[in-house]
Amino acid sequence: MPASPLLEKITKKIEKADLSGGFSKAGTIIELRDGIAMIQWLANIAFNEIVEFPKNILGVVLDLSAKTTGVLILGDASQLALGDRVIPTGKVLSIPVGEAYIGRVVDGFTKPIDGKWEIVASNRGLVEALAPKVMDRQEVTQPVKTGIVALDSMIPIGHGQRELIIGDRQTGKTTLALDILINQAKEQEDVIGIYVNIGQKNASAKHLVKTLKEHHAMDQTIVVNAAASDSAAMQYLAPYVGCTLAEYFMHQGKKVIIVYDDLTKHAIAYREISLLLHRPPSREAYPGDIFYLHSRLLERAAQLNKQLGGGAITALPIVETLEGDISAYIPTNIISITDGQIYLNEDLFHEGTRPAIDVGLSVSRVGSTAQTALMKKVTGKLRIQLASFRELASFLQFGSEVNEETAIKIKKGQILTELFKQSQHDLLSPSQEIVLLYAWINDYLIDFPLSDIPAIKQSLFLKLEQQYSDLKISLEQDEIFNTELEKQIIKLIKEVLKEFPLLFPWKSV
Ligand code: ATP
Ligand code: MG
Repeated sequence: MPASPLLEKITKKIEKADLSGGFSKAGTIIELRDGIAMIQWLANIAFNEIVEFPKNILGVVLDLSAKTTGVLILGDASQLALGDRVIPTGKVLSIPVGEAYIGRVVDGFTKPIDGKWEIVASNRGLVEALAPKVMDRQEVTQPVKTGIVALDSMIPIGHGQRELIIGDRQTGKTTLALDILINQAKEQEDVIGIYVNIGQKNASAKHLVKTLKEHHAMDQTIVVNAAASDSAAMQYLAPYVGCTLAEYFMHQGKKVIIVYDDLTKHAIAYREISLLLHRPPSREAYPGDIFYLHSRLLERAAQLNKQLGGGAITALPIVETLEGDISAYIPTNIISITDGQIYLNEDLFHEGTRPAIDVGLSVSRVGSTAQTALMKKVTGKLRIQLASFRELASFLQFGSEVNEETAIKIKKGQILTELFKQSQHDLLSPSQEIVLLYAWINDYLIDFPLSDIPAIKQSLFLKLEQQYSDLKISLEQDEIFNTELEKQIIKLIKEVLKEFPLLFPWKSV
């Protein structure tokens, strides 16, 4: 096929250009701006290659143009000056990885910042590694125990899944993710947690580490901190660094849950870098490859197949919305890359429904395949019932009169909303969740005033702990749901409910 005139013109131009003779191997800094260096005369350089500046400062190539190379400086840019020499290394960016990172707080370039000893790790991982291929993966079926009853029952997360946590400012996004990490320690799960702070305040990261320690979860967690005060370069790299650490453990056959808090700030850091690299801005001034930036990160979450050891990375990216607008550019991008989203609603949060999960807008596309057998059995029709309650509740806002059947449905919905309330770090074990849901689904709670529900909940837990330890163990071990087990659950529920006055005393329990 004959080449187009334009292509011919370009080819001729490239042929005429002297790509080797004029260039020496080393380059020179001709521009320095906010952690970005533009380099001239750098030959045979590749995208993502590491270059070396004076004073052992490294940089990573992010932009290749005909005449200049744009480099992100991975260190103290204030020590560099125009005219400094830059040497290509022929290597792509890698970081040390290994067990030594567990329990530590590091910055976005893996340097420890917790005031403890140096980290010695003999393995290295590629910061921009390729995601596992389709054939390397396996279906997501193993549930992540989140300890949040609304999630475990309706929006189950499986190991290897990517579930977005999305919501406005101050709606409990970080707390929800943090609680999932804490629950891994509480349930003694063999899961490593990685929390990546991208562009959040240093103080909140500090508070998070303190909370992890208080709940004995820091011993199985790594915190990668690229705070708002850190360079855009560090904020840009931090999630990849966290993911590279996670990959090391996944390939050892371990399970990892990684939280990216948050990708909105990550997109902003990348936008800043791209504008400094003179890239043309696209929608909302983000560069055109912003989708690819996040998809190549989140695609690295996977459940590996048995031959590869069965390890998994579960990714929980967080995205902040403005006034609940999930149709903005970055949210829609990330919604389309993930396997579902947990939508936190500001109004629910202020009403006191916390965690403020909007069950209508939240989904997990992995669904019940990632639930324990018992949970699946107990929660079968939960979602449909709750959805019909929401619909009815919205009718009620118009002050409509309702018949008795509808009133009962609405009451049921209100009770469930009450059962789903959990204050922060107050996590439920699988046995507690199953007893609660069983009582609700089988209408044991319908005749009690809403105000008694929290107390009933506590009594159920107390009795389960103190007098029904065999039942508790069976439920924890996810035994087959049989009539004997069911009888025990019913007995427990009835014993507890006897202690509470009925709203309609003529009905018996
Ligand atoms: P930001 O947008 O600032 O990152 P965020 O959405 O991550 O906020 P958090 O920082 O997790 O929200 O929570 C906001 C506040 O609400 C915190 O003070 C936290 O302690 C409180 N909070 C979050 N979840 C709960 C809960 N389930 N019960 C009680 N308080 C909660
Ligand atoms: Mg937060």
